[in-house]
Amino acid sequence: MRQTREDRLAARRVPAAPGVRGAAAKPGENDRHLAWVRSLPCAIGSVRCGAITHAHHVRERSGGGVGMKPGDRWAVPLCPAHHSEGHTTGWKTFEERHRVDLRAVAVGLAAASPYLSQDQRGADE
Ligand SMILES: [Zn+2]
Ligand SMILES: [Zn+2]
Repeated sequence: MRQTREDRLAARRVPAAPGVRGAAAKPGENDRHLAWVRSLPCAIGSVRCGAITHAHHVRERSGGGVGMKPGDRWAVPLCPAHHSEGHTTGWKTFEERHRVDLRAVAVGLAAASPYLSQDQRGADE
């Protein structure tokens, strides 16, 4: 299938599942909160950390497929190096090594986020 440049750009913006972006996002999804998390420095905060951060979702659901990722309120900022380190070594080891509680970080960020509504902060899944 031949794609124009516009098609590729559009495809990148559109979520994998069909649906309306923005106000009608799936429950737990919040693009603005995620963008805000990505604008923060890496949660580990070492000299290794670069300026770029990813949003890592702390709560991984076992057995989940596409669309089963945990709510965006569980996002924490991690630089690419620490993000891949955590996924490679396992998060329990990673947290012990860096003496960080990423769940607590996520909870703190969710409470401080200007972009999460009250029920997105509090709702547990
Ligand atoms: Zn880092
Ligand atoms: Zn991740």
